[in-house]
Amino acid sequence: MQAILVELITPSMALFFSACFLLLWMKSGLGRYVLAFAGAYLFSAIGFLVAISLSPDSSITFQASQLAYSIAGACMIWGACDRVKQPPFLKVMATIYVIAAAMLIAEVIFTRDAGPRLIISNTGYGIMLLVGVISLLSAPRRNLADNLVIAILALNAADFLIRPTITILIEGQIDVAAYHESIYFSLINLVLSVKAVATATVLFAACISDYLTRLKESALHDDLTGLKSRAAFEDEARNMMKRGQDEACPVALVVADIDHFKQVNDIWGHQAGDTAIINFGDLLEGTIRGCDVSSRIGGEEFCLVVWNCGLDDAARLAERIRFAFAQMEHRGVGSDIRLTASFGVAEMQKGERYESLFLRADAALYRAKDEGRNQVVTDNRSKTEINETEKQKTAANRAAA
Ligand code: GH3
Ligand code: MG
Ligand code: MG
Repeated sequence: MQAILVELITPSMALFFSACFLLLWMKSGLGRYVLAFAGAYLFSAIGFLVAISLSPDSSITFQASQLAYSIAGACMIWGACDRVKQPPFLKVMATIYVIAAAMLIAEVIFTRDAGPRLIISNTGYGIMLLVGVISLLSAPRRNLADNLVIAILALNAADFLIRPTITILIEGQIDVAAYHESIYFSLINLVLSVKAVATATVLFAACISDYLTRLKESALHDDLTGLKSRAAFEDEARNMMKRGQDEACPVALVVADIDHFKQVNDIWGHQAGDTAIINFGDLLEGTIRGCDVSSRIGGEEFCLVVWNCGLDDAARLAERIRFAFAQMEHRGVGSDIRLTASFGVAEMQKGERYESLFLRADAALYRAKDEGRNQVVTDNRSKTEINETEKQKTAANRAAA
């Protein structure tokens, strides 16, 4: 009874890990690789359960558990490779499995010694893992979590390739009927439990790290357009302005707002409005250079910070965008209808802070709105000319919008 309970520890743990990965996959929205890890632990639990519940003397037991372990290994390697977009070489794995299975069939017929079959099957798993590790090592991306995954799979491979041979060399022959009483069997339960926990911990850590990276990415980007979020944009704009001040290089800010956008939603629906926002975002990204930064700072409001660009050049850039947008068709909006946008442009002045530059560009935008929309207005005044009344007017305009 006690022996059975000990034997059940590893499959129970594997089932628990499988359930945890399944839950993580369902809740996190991470890729199919998390599901593959759940599959790996499920199949290894099946392998263990088959091995302890059927007669160790039976070749069916050996083949069935070997098949389950091989599927478990393939799932784990596929998951680890898919996570970093590397090829899993499944055909190579299948070939290794077929060769090992064929050798095992022959071995089971001709000998009652469990030693050679344990070495054949474990060597098969070891080579499979080694193939996976080689694929992972050639991945272009390699962060701490990726290195830990490679290390744990390499340790698993080394264990499969070395441990059985050493144990069997020490123990000598193991008659299949006495397999459960062998040193090999008592050692394997301990080793597999430790390996299962260590591997699951590393894979979990890698999945959690992926999840956190995704959260961080989504905080930095606007979901609809993929442009920078307002907070991320402001950080980048501040950095660019500091660099501009240090290197005496002109930096300009362009604020844009789609005209009468509320009516777009009211007449053609929110979906059509979203499409127009996406199109505007794509237009910005397609127009600016790699050194400039674009952002969706609000509903239908966008902002650009432009490097090495004075007021006139920035106004010309805004004019190009205004003109291109006014030509665009938008799915869901009547095909004869064209939307327009208004733009405010300001150039950074010496010692100016982001808030002040934004305020001047925004004030210019509201003048563009006041003066009839669908136009670019530049701010030609120095920052000291922006008085409290103007600030209040801008704030009042925003509150009314
Ligand atoms: P103006 O020309 O003065 O800018 O007028 P407007 O109608 O564009 O400005 P207003 O601020 O009155 O309306 C903006 C609208 O944008 C209201 C809001 O429902 C809509 N909006 C904000 N975010 C989104 C979004 O993500 N998708 C869609 N479809 N509409 C949005
Ligand atoms: Mg608007
Ligand atoms: Mg607006």
